[in-house]
Amino acid sequence: DFFVEAVRDLNILSSYLNEKKFEAGNGEPGGSRSKEGKNGEDFILKVPIGSIVTNKKDGKVFNLLKEGQRELVLHGGSGGYGNEHFKSSRNTTPKETTPGKAGEEADFYIEVELIADIGLVGFPNAGKSSLLNTITNSNSKIGDYPFTTLDPHLGALYGLVLADIPGIIKGASLGKGLGHKFLRHIRRTKKILHVISVENEDVISAYNEIRGELSEYDYELSKKEEVIILSKIDLDDKWEMKKAKLESLGRKVIPFSIIDDEKIKNLSDYLVS
Ligand code: GDP
Ligand code: MG
Repeated sequence: DFFVEAVRDLNILSSYLNEKKFEAGNGEPGGSRSKEGKNGEDFILKVPIGSIVTNKKDGKVFNLLKEGQRELVLHGGSGGYGNEHFKSSRNTTPKETTPGKAGEEADFYIEVELIADIGLVGFPNAGKSSLLNTITNSNSKIGDYPFTTLDPHLGALYGLVLADIPGIIKGASLGKGLGHKFLRHIRRTKKILHVISVENEDVISAYNEIRGELSEYDYELSKKEEVIILSKIDLDDKWEMKKAKLESLGRKVIPFSIIDDEKIKNLSDYLVS
C-alpha cells in the first residue's frame, strides 16, 4: 500500500526532487504447496505538515495537518492465491495459482501550506532569521544577502511553531520579487510578528511599505493580529524614540536584540503566554 505521512521537516520534499515516480511493491505470485503470494511492500512518502495531497485521477484530497498523520492514498497489489485456494471436493490436488496483482496507480499534486502559529514578516535583513534562531531550536541561515532564506524556515518554541518568511520587497504582491511565492505560507498563522530594524531612519514608512504588501497580497492576512518587533536595538542608542513612533500606530511594540538576554526572554515569554 502507498501512504503519505506528515513530518515536521519543511525541506523533506527537496530530497525527492530527482524522483518522478514512487512505487510500492507489487503483489507476489501465489505458489504451490499452499503458499500465498506476499502483498506488495508498503511505501511511505513523507511530506511536510500542512501538505495538501490531491489524487489527480479521482480528485480525492488528503489534508496532512498533524505530525505523524498517515493516509492511505493507493492500494498496493495483493499477493496471488496459492493452490490451496482452489481446493474443492472435485479438485483435491489443485495446481492452479494466481499471479500477484499490480497496485493502483495515480498522479498526485502536492501543495504545501505551512501551518505556523506565528509568521515573521519584514524587509530583507530585518533580522528575522536571527530572531527565529535565537528564540527557537531552528537554524535558519543568517546573512546579508536579501534572500538567504529561499524556503520558509520553521522553529518551535514550546508548542508554538514560528515561521521565518523570506524578506518581501516592494511589489512582491504583484509577483515582482521572490517574496510573493512565500506569502501564502503565512495565511494560516494566527499572529504576525512584523520585524523592523532600528537601522531604518524612518520606521513608519518601513512599516507602511510592508503593510501595503501584505494587504495587497491578501486582505485577510493583513487583518491578523500583528505585533511589531523593533530589532537590533543594540545598534542604536535612541531606539526608544523609534519605539515610541511605532507605538503611535496603536500597535504593541517589543524591542529586541539577539545579544540582549533580557529582551530575548521577554519576547519568548510574551509569545508563549
Ligand atoms: P533576515 O533577512 O530578516 O532573515 O535577517 P538576518 O537574520 O539574516 O540578519 C541580517 C543581518 O543582521 C545579519 O548580518 C545579522 O547578523 C544581523 N543581525 C540580526 N539581528 C541582529 C541584532 O539583534 N543585532 C545586531 N547587531 N545585528 C543583528
Ligand atoms: Mg532570513
